[in-house]
Amino acid sequence: MSGTVMVEARGVRKSFGGTEVLKDLSLTVVEGSVTCLIGPSGSGKTTFLRCLNRLETVDAGIIMIDGALVGVDQRGGRLVEQRERDIAKTRQQSGMVFQRFNLFPHRTALENIAEGPLFVQKRPKAEVLREARELLARVGLADRADAYPQELSGGQQQRVAIARALAMKPKLILFDEPTSALDPELVGEVLAVMKQLAREGMTMIVVTHELGFARDMADQVVFMADGVVVETGPPAQVLGNPIETRTREFVASVI
Ligand code: ADP
Ligand code: MG
Repeated sequence: MSGTVMVEARGVRKSFGGTEVLKDLSLTVVEGSVTCLIGPSGSGKTTFLRCLNRLETVDAGIIMIDGALVGVDQRGGRLVEQRERDIAKTRQQSGMVFQRFNLFPHRTALENIAEGPLFVQKRPKAEVLREARELLARVGLADRADAYPQELSGGQQQRVAIARALAMKPKLILFDEPTSALDPELVGEVLAVMKQLAREGMTMIVVTHELGFARDMADQVVFMADGVVVETGPPAQVLGNPIETRTREFVASVI
């Protein structure tokens, strides 16, 4: 790890209707590190990830990725909403892997991976297809390039989804409960790919209930509840010896 800050969120607030879902949330993520975000259902984890790549706007606070403001530009001392074209660029900085794999059902594994680089980034086809094949090999699916999502297991689909995120050459990847829709016997193969990525130095924010993964791989664990960060620290603290009672109760309930 370089010590360079990749993600900085400061004082982020977000309401839906009259309900404040994120209440003054701050988080720092160092380049090349793994941050595991844990917390009860409804605590705002998904909303926070969506704010990080501007699938949601924020009501207050700022988010910076690799030193640049997300979703807003500073003009004459004021923050103004970015143009749609710039937001699209911002969004490409962070890959996203969802609980439900969200692959295009009528495209093969290879086509799913190549889609973004070809049609969003408009990169040369030969290069994109070569890289897509390399990515399939990296997630252990070199022989399934021509398979359609329905012909793949959930674990294989999720590995294609990870390859698809990587194909856009993101600065970081956001994982939103990537294994919680999988049959238990398929969880390991997806976690193995994620561990490999982490070892290769990818910056990752992972919302997960897999506390074993968090214990082995996280540089920091962030426990969120009711839209605030309750406790942040290394896994040995947050999972092993929590300071806050709420963390302790949550960790005990998951194990
Ligand atoms: P988590 O991922 O931790 O389970 P979420 O971020 O999905 O939590 O949700 C936090 C709260 O925000 C929940 O109460 C949820 O119902 C609410 N919420 C999330 N998205 C929306 C939305 N688009 N409109 C209204 N309420 C929402
Ligand atoms: Mg969620």
